[in-house]
Amino acid sequence: MRFTLALATTATLVLSSVTVAPTGATARSRDPGPTATGFGGAVSTVDATATAVGLDVLRRGGNAVDAAIAAAATLGVTEPFSAGIGGGGFFVHYDGKTGKVSTIDGRESGPATMTEGTFIDPADGLPYDFAEARVSGLSVGTPGTLATWEAAAQQWGTRPLGSLLRPAADVADRGFPVDATFRQQVADNAAAFGQFDSTRELFLPGGAPPAVGSTLRNPDLADTYRLIAKRGTGMFYRGPIAADIVETVQHPPVADDPTGTWAYPIRPGDLQLSDLAGYRVRHPEPTRSAYRGLTVYGMSTPSSGGTAVGEALNILEKTDLSKATPIEALHRYVESTALSFADRNRYVGAYTPQPVLDQLISDEWASRRACHIDPARAMTKPVPPGDLTATGCTPATVGGPVEQGQSTTNLTVADRWGNVVEYTLTIEQTGGNAMVVPGRGFLLNNELTDFNFTATQGSAPDPNLPGPNKRPRSSMSPTIVLKNGKPFLAVGTPGGATIITTVLQILVNRIDLGMTLPEAMAAPRASQRNTAGIQSEPAFHERYGPGLEALGHTFAPDVAELGAATAIEFARHGGMIASAEPARRGGGTAAVVHPRY
Ligand code: GLU
Repeated sequence: MRFTLALATTATLVLSSVTVAPTGATARSRDPGPTATGFGGAVSTVDATATAVGLDVLRRGGNAVDAAIAAAATLGVTEPFSAGIGGGGFFVHYDGKTGKVSTIDGRESGPATMTEGTFIDPADGLPYDFAEARVSGLSVGTPGTLATWEAAAQQWGTRPLGSLLRPAADVADRGFPVDATFRQQVADNAAAFGQFDSTRELFLPGGAPPAVGSTLRNPDLADTYRLIAKRGTGMFYRGPIAADIVETVQHPPVADDPTGTWAYPIRPGDLQLSDLAGYRVRHPEPTRSAYRGLTVYGMSTPSSGGTAVGEALNILEKTDLSKATPIEALHRYVESTALSFADRNRYVGAYTPQPVLDQLISDEWASRRACHIDPARAMTKPVPPGDLTATGCTPATVGGPVEQGQSTTNLTVADRWGNVVEYTLTIEQTGGNAMVVPGRGFLLNNELTDFNFTATQGSAPDPNLPGPNKRPRSSMSPTIVLKNGKPFLAVGTPGGATIITTVLQILVNRIDLGMTLPEAMAAPRASQRNTAGIQSEPAFHERYGPGLEALGHTFAPDVAELGAATAIEFARHGGMIASAEPARRGGGTAAVVHPRY
């Protein structure tokens, strides 16, 4: 059966399951794979087990929020190096009944005792090396993931949180097959994991990364989920699990006979029971920007995702990309993100006043930034941030560098009632801070390393320095795009600061460059975050490098892959195209309740 997709651009295409298979991607129609088309609800995650759990919840009459929580809890088991109850994230929800987009900020927060100097070594007054700060108690923020699930379940779900944790607990008990990505993630972290008894017992069985094809069980995590299911999240924030988290942070469970060498002392942190007891999710208004007749909703502070994506879209909107050659369009794309990152770095942090955020994603600001783009010549990077108080084509103000990361996971869920969830969750680095809470089966985050360790903005204030109870700036960009008030597209991805550029690139590919959603997902990626060279995947560099270099762009060394996105596009008459990565991070899995091939 075919169904018609009304595209949000000027063009209208007719797609079927045959034509949605992306170029260069495996066209798997019936097996679980990266693309699924049909009706009645959809799930897309990076992992087949998590997608199956989410789909099962939908099939049994649960809604998108129920399915998203159950899938996320499962990702905590099968993708433990990217996400879990030791971390945080941002949940964006479209309510099919009211048409309202709302968010949950479940970002980790720093301890009450955190200061601007937390990441400065008192011995020499210099900032810690990133790895030293990461694998320490200093980097652990109060986890917000469980509180996010509870808030979402209470506000929009139809099932008790406990029942949504049980399928994940069963997966943890039964075990799941180790794949090449999982094994590699352990291998990459072997030295850090080998320092801690609790971590190496779980992830380095027999002292080595688990073999591909072996079954990994996590009975401690199963028990943790079941304890929370039975007795509530108080077990985590005020009860015995809180005590174990605090103990781990204050007295890292360093092995007497570590496996492998670690170059740094493992420092304790100062997270207290009162920090966990006092943790609350926030409900910031989503960011909102108009783009070529669509309305793009994103995540506001402490994430910079919504404003950075919104500002870049507004800059791009000043040009009709549908008439541009690929090189012209990509030139605009990388120039817009360089400008947007300059402003993000200078102005966006946990406490940025709302009027500043509003200004950054206003059309007027975009005009004052877009005027710097020369269609024939790349700007010299880094570009300075704009001056919010000036008029005309913004003069420069002082600015600073950028950061990056490669972890995290994302999921997209929709149900038959029109509800949509876009959810990005993380423990920061792949492997978090490398400490499994003994007896509890989950890794702690190192999210506080998302703060700038020292001021980066010259004589101007840095919006992202650490502070008491402060949440570090994020790049996570769960995004829901509406057309005429109804969902058109939901998308998100991991990838540290490249999250912003990957979400933007998928949107531009889909909305402006005539690609289907699976094509937009599969297309080679590049990320310009206001550094000298564009970071890109080899296929992008090969295809577009010469054209962009002719305009004066330069390239940083290639990276194997950028992001691991998930998305759902909404067609007429309730049709859905669920899309995951065909290849990146081992490929993701999309599924729909009632497939149509
Ligand atoms: N901690 C990062 C952020 O919040 C995400 C980490 C990653 O995706 O690598 O922006």
